[in-house]
Amino acid sequence: MLTIAISIYLETNTQIDSEGLYWTVNIFLVALFSYYGGIYGGILLILLLSGIYAGMLTISTPNVLVVTDLSPYAIGLFIALALGTLGWKIKANEVQLRKVFENNDVTFWTWDNETEEHSFSEGYAKLYGVSSEQFKENPTLWLDAVHPDDKEIVLQAIEQQQAGKKTSISYRYFHANGEIRWIQDRATPYIDRHGVVTRVDGVSFDITDQKKVEQRMNQLIHYDSLTGLTNRKWFQNYLETALISANKFGRPLAVMFIDFDNFKRINDTLGHSAGDQLLIRIANRLKSILRDSDIVSRQSGDEFLILVESRDVQEVEALAKKIIVEMNDPYTINGMEIISTPSIGISLNIEWNDDAETLIKKADFAMFLAKDIGKNNYQFYNEELNKKMKRRMILETYLHKAIDHNELTVHYQPQFDIASYRITGAEALLRWECAMGKIKPDEFIPIAEDTGLIIPIGEWVLRQACRDIKRFQDKGLNSFPISVNISTRQLMAPNFVDRIRTIITEEAVEPNLLTLEITESAFLYYEDAKENILELRNLGVGVSLDDFGIGYSSLSMIRNIEIDELKIDRSFLHDSLKNTRVRSLLEAIIQIGKKMNTKVVVEGIETREQIELLSTHDVYGQGYFYSKPIAVDEFEAWCLVAKNKQENMR
Ligand code: C2E
Ligand code: MG
Ligand code: MG
Repeated sequence: MLTIAISIYLETNTQIDSEGLYWTVNIFLVALFSYYGGIYGGILLILLLSGIYAGMLTISTPNVLVVTDLSPYAIGLFIALALGTLGWKIKANEVQLRKVFENNDVTFWTWDNETEEHSFSEGYAKLYGVSSEQFKENPTLWLDAVHPDDKEIVLQAIEQQQAGKKTSISYRYFHANGEIRWIQDRATPYIDRHGVVTRVDGVSFDITDQKKVEQRMNQLIHYDSLTGLTNRKWFQNYLETALISANKFGRPLAVMFIDFDNFKRINDTLGHSAGDQLLIRIANRLKSILRDSDIVSRQSGDEFLILVESRDVQEVEALAKKIIVEMNDPYTINGMEIISTPSIGISLNIEWNDDAETLIKKADFAMFLAKDIGKNNYQFYNEELNKKMKRRMILETYLHKAIDHNELTVHYQPQFDIASYRITGAEALLRWECAMGKIKPDEFIPIAEDTGLIIPIGEWVLRQACRDIKRFQDKGLNSFPISVNISTRQLMAPNFVDRIRTIITEEAVEPNLLTLEITESAFLYYEDAKENILELRNLGVGVSLDDFGIGYSSLSMIRNIEIDELKIDRSFLHDSLKNTRVRSLLEAIIQIGKKMNTKVVVEGIETREQIELLSTHDVYGQGYFYSKPIAVDEFEAWCLVAKNKQENMR
C-alpha cells in the first residue's frame, strides 16, 4: 500500500528524485519485513515490490519511474534483507532463550555491592513458586526460604564471594507450596582493577529431581530385603526432613508404631519361613490400606512404622481403626489360617516440638500402652504417658547407680506347708529406694529388663540371697531353700549357668538351698531355655515356674521341661472363693502339679478362708496372711519365733 501510495505521489510530483525515494522506501520495508518475518518474509516482499514496479512501468507511469541503473538498489535490497534476517534471527534466539529460562527452574542473578541490590531474571518466580511482585516486595525472600540446616552453607558462600572467590553450592529451600526442594547455585564475583568486588553474578537452578535420584539410590541401601519396605534408619532420616516442613507450615504429622501380637509364637510354632511369609503379607496389606503419600517402614521383627502426613487427628484415628479392622482378617499361610492382631501406638508432632527419634520413641511407648490395655487396639501418646515416660527416664538414670549407691535390698517372704504351718522356704524380693522414694518392683524390674541392667542387678540379688542363706545357716535357723526371681533376659544371657555356678561356689552355698523362679516367657526361647534349665537342675539348683496358669503356654512348658515347683498365680486363689469354675481350675492345676511330682505353691494367701480352701490339698502357700515380704533382720527374728507361733495358729 505504501509503495503504491508513493508511486502515485511521485506521479504527481515529478520534480522530486522520485526513483531514489521510491527505492529507499522499498529497501526500508524489506529490512522491516525480514526483521519481523525472517528471510522468507523479506524475499516475498521483494518479489511483490518487483511485481508492482514492473506493473507500474508498463501500465501507468513509465516516464516517472524509469530506472537508469538498478544495481545500487538491488544491493541495497540485498543488504536490507540480510540485516533484517540477522535481526530476526537474533530476536528469535533471544525469545527462545528466554523461554528456556522461563520454562525451566533457572534464574540468573546479580548482586550489586554499591547499591546493595539483588536482581533476578524471570525464572526466579518459578523456582520459588512466588510472583515477581511478591519478590520485589521482599528481596530477601530467597534467603528466608533457605532450609535452616543449610543456611550456614549459604552464608559461608556469600562470605567467600565477597572475598573474591567463585562458589558452587547446593542447598535445600522451601518452595511456596511447602515442599522442600534443592537448588544448585554458582556465583562469580566481579573484581574491578582496584581489586574491589563490585558485584557478584550467579546462576541458580533446581536440582530436586537429581537429588531425588540420589535419595532413591540411598534408599536402596536402606531397604528391608524381606518386605521391600524401607528400614528404620531411612524412616528416621525421612521423618527428620518431613518434620521441619510440617512444623514450619503447622501441618499435622503422625507416627504409628505397630507391633503384631503373638508374632513370636507364630514364628516358633509354625517356623521362620511361615513367619517370613506372614511379614510379607502384613507389609503388603499395610501398603494397600495407606495412601501413596503415607510411608510404611519395617522397624525390626514384627514391628512396623507408619508416617502419616497432612491428616488431622480424627483422620489419623480413623486410619488406626481401619488398620485394626483390616489386620484382623486372617491370612492363609501353608493352608493354615493365621491371625496376628496389631497393637498401635501413635505420636503426633503438633503438641510437642519433638525430633524424629523422640517421636518414634513416643509412638513405641504408646504401643506398649496398647499392649497393656489388652492388645489389638491403638493408643495415642498423651500427657499421662509423657509424665510416665519422663519418670521412667529419670528412674533409668538412677537405676544405673542403684548398686553403687547401696540403694538395693532384698526382702524375704516365707513359704509354708499349709497343713503343718512349717516354713518350707522363702522368696527373695528385691526392694529399691532412691532419691525418688521407694520404687515398686513392678515398675523398676521392666526398666531393668529393657536396659539390660537386670543382668548386674539380678546377679547382685543372687549373690545377696546366697550370702543370706549362709547367714541363716550360721545363725542356726532351720535350713530351707530361698527362691530368687530370674528374668528371661538373665536366663538367656550367655554363660548364665556358669555365672550361677561361680556365685554358688564363691559364696559356698549348697545348690539345693537355692531355687530359681522363672516365668513362662522363657518358653518363647524354648530351645535355649530348656538347655539352661536342664543344666541348672544338674547343678542341683531348684527350678520353679512362677505365676503359673495366667499365660497360654504354661501347660506346654511343664509338658516339655521337668521342673521342681509350680507357683500358682494368686489370681486363681483370689477368684476361687467367688467362682466355682476358677476353683475347679485351681484344684485341677494342683492335681496336675502333684501328678508330675512337682511341689505346688499357691501364691497370695490373704485370708483364713483361703487357707481352709487349700488345707485339704497338701500344698504350700505364700502370702500376706503369713507375712508380707520383710527385711532380712526382721525375717531372721521372725523365723526364730515362727516355730512357737506355728503351734498357736494350728
Ligand atoms: P512374683 O515373683 O510373683 O512375687 C510375688 C509378688 O506378690 C511380690 O510382689 C509379693 O510382695 C506379692 N505378694 C505376696 N503375697 C501377696 C498377697 O498375699 N497378696 C498380694 N496382693 N500380693 C502378694 P513384689 O515384691 O512387689 O514383686 C513383684 C514382682 O517383681 C515379682 O512377682 C517378680 O516378678 C518381680 N521381682 C521382684 N524381685 C525380683 C528380682 O529380684 N528379680 C526379678 N527378675 N524380678 C523380681
Ligand atoms: Mg516370684
Ligand atoms: Mg509370682
